[in-house]
Amino acid sequence: MFKGTDIKPFEKKIWLASPTMHGEEQKYVQEAFDTNWVSTVGENLNQLEAGICEYTGSEYGVALSSGTAALHLAIKLAGIEQGDVVLCSDMTFVATVNPIIYEKGIPVFVDEEYCTWNMDPNALEQALLKYPEAKAVILVHLYGTPAKVDEIRSLCNRYGVILIEDAAESLGAMYRGQQTGTFGKYNAISFNGNKIITTSGGGMFLTNDKLAEKQVRKWSTQAREPLPWYQHEQTGYNYRMSNIVAGIGRGQLIHLDEHIALKKKIYMRYKEGLKDLPLTMNPYMPDAEPNFWLSCILLDDDAGITPDIIRIKLEEYNAEARPIWKPMHMQPIFNGCDFIVSKNGMNVGRDIFNRGLCLPSDITMTEEEQNVIIELIKSCFMGIPGRTNER
Ligand SMILES: *Cc1c(COP(=O)(O)O)cnc(C)c1O
Repeated sequence: MFKGTDIKPFEKKIWLASPTMHGEEQKYVQEAFDTNWVSTVGENLNQLEAGICEYTGSEYGVALSSGTAALHLAIKLAGIEQGDVVLCSDMTFVATVNPIIYEKGIPVFVDEEYCTWNMDPNALEQALLKYPEAKAVILVHLYGTPAKVDEIRSLCNRYGVILIEDAAESLGAMYRGQQTGTFGKYNAISFNGNKIITTSGGGMFLTNDKLAEKQVRKWSTQAREPLPWYQHEQTGYNYRMSNIVAGIGRGQLIHLDEHIALKKKIYMRYKEGLKDLPLTMNPYMPDAEPNFWLSCILLDDDAGITPDIIRIKLEEYNAEARPIWKPMHMQPIFNGCDFIVSKNGMNVGRDIFNRGLCLPSDITMTEEEQNVIIELIKSCFMGIPGRTNER
């Protein structure tokens, strides 16, 4: 094996996750041009919605301009208004929380658990006891790893709270044989550029509730009443996806399983290649099948180095690593918000943020390139007393 110092920087940057096009995407976009459905109606939209419903098992899907838009309309459907408490996954991307703020709700952040890096059911129960008036729970499946849905869903049922799933990162991931994004009353997925499949930018609202589907279609197209003239009785939004953009998604959907298989290979190679180091991979439960969107590591308490040493090392070699999504309870903008931990009093989110790192997980990365990244990570531990120095 070569030494860390002999490695040359990558000529082409290795990304965390980048869009991967195949060819069919352009064909469907061209079809939209050829038939002049250059609008927010058309066959690409119909087929993308039908295709995602078929894939996930959701009864209804409405294609929107973003996953954030889908979450926003989910929050509205849950009836969130000024002062309403929404219990929310804490370690997530800010897009999970912003829609609560749009409707002047009050987010209360619920801590993670080590075994999934997702909402801890015990912490959720503490939150429900403290906020019996809470109206909704937003559950994130971070990095494509399913949360403990059954525990969380039964708590929601017991306390009469609406479950909203933010499956933006987890399209294709399964929990006990069922697709994420189909467990909540209202659910959101994302087709942002870095997600498992993309439309360049876009998202979809998923539900089994026919009235909710109808309402989302109406809200997303400026809440027009079905009359010959423009008649409005509710505030609407311009949230509909374009038929051009939907063509990209239609082409990508063909390759979703292939993307997941490649992501899983990347995860497994890291797991094997890094197994002698004082760290663990982002974990998942035996009853869950992640989509492996991002491979992450968690350094042991006594690893002797910080995640930033690895991140900066990879950056020097033109590969992108990124800190774990900084928990919402640590964000300056949410300073005044409550944060609920489990009964044992530990702040798991902060700990994972301090010791964790997202590794390059781009599916265009070759096995050779990934081996180099593994060697670079190993080289960060050289010279640390009691650590692997075999090279
Ligand atoms: C990407 C993402 C979103 C938002 O999706 P957009 O399509 O970018 O609006 C929401 N939640 C999580 C957890 C995400 O990662």
